[in-house]
Amino acid sequence: MSGKATAAWRRAGARAHALRLDGFAVNAGLVIGDEQAAVIDSGAGPTEAAELYAAVRILTDLPLVLINTHAHGDHFFGNAYFRAQGVVDIWAHAGAATTIASHGAEQRDLVLDVDPAMAAAKGPHTDIVAPTRTVGNEPVELDLGGCSIRLFHLGPAHTDGDLLIASGQVLFAGDLVEEGAKPQFGGSFPRPWVAALGRLIALGGSHPVVVPGHGEFVDMDFVRAQRDELRAAIEMCRVALEDPSTDPYRVIPSLPYDPIQSRHLLLRVRDTAGPQQK
Ligand SMILES: [Zn+2]
Repeated sequence: MSGKATAAWRRAGARAHALRLDGFAVNAGLVIGDEQAAVIDSGAGPTEAAELYAAVRILTDLPLVLINTHAHGDHFFGNAYFRAQGVVDIWAHAGAATTIASHGAEQRDLVLDVDPAMAAAKGPHTDIVAPTRTVGNEPVELDLGGCSIRLFHLGPAHTDGDLLIASGQVLFAGDLVEEGAKPQFGGSFPRPWVAALGRLIALGGSHPVVVPGHGEFVDMDFVRAQRDELRAAIEMCRVALEDPSTDPYRVIPSLPYDPIQSRHLLLRVRDTAGPQQK
């Protein structure tokens, strides 16, 4: 396995690269400044993190900062490995940082097949390491020397703590956008997600290259299509939930997602409805 990832960096922009990790096809990112470099997401445990770190060191020997796009284990379970390499600053949205600190360990089963040591919490670098630096509703500019990156939040969407990273013309979108697989709705906020994608699309002129959380690079037309599909699916869920004469679950086969994600979407539309939604 080691070395497998090292040749696979894809150039997304002048200073921005992405590497597809094996386990969940997560796109880890790398932005290289003149004085430091930023790694975006750390992988599904120490195994992937070690491969990612080795790949990073092929492109740069600069000091690193790490950014977690959100609080799903395939994106942050490698934090302990990076900390052990001397990485001190680990950035995330404040909501994601809280979730990782308080509930991160509950996700270990996610990586049973990908990193059994991480799943079992046994062995080096398998502890849950929470972010040390947080972003709230105001964007944060990180100066990497010769260039900066912008860390920002567009409201609740895939989770309540999604962070996006802009580097020149490139936008790392985390799991707000997915290519090669449909979006994941467990724990999501469907209606605000549509609004967040609308804000993302509004940035389109500045960021022609979008690196999704998983899959191939996309453009704003792809994001717009994903937004429109989600908006239509939410409307179908709403109609199904508001009709007292039928079982709302009957809408599931009509939704454009697999049965599990369709069920998540239906329940999240129901459970996040109204003024209390985050
Ligand atoms: Zn996710």
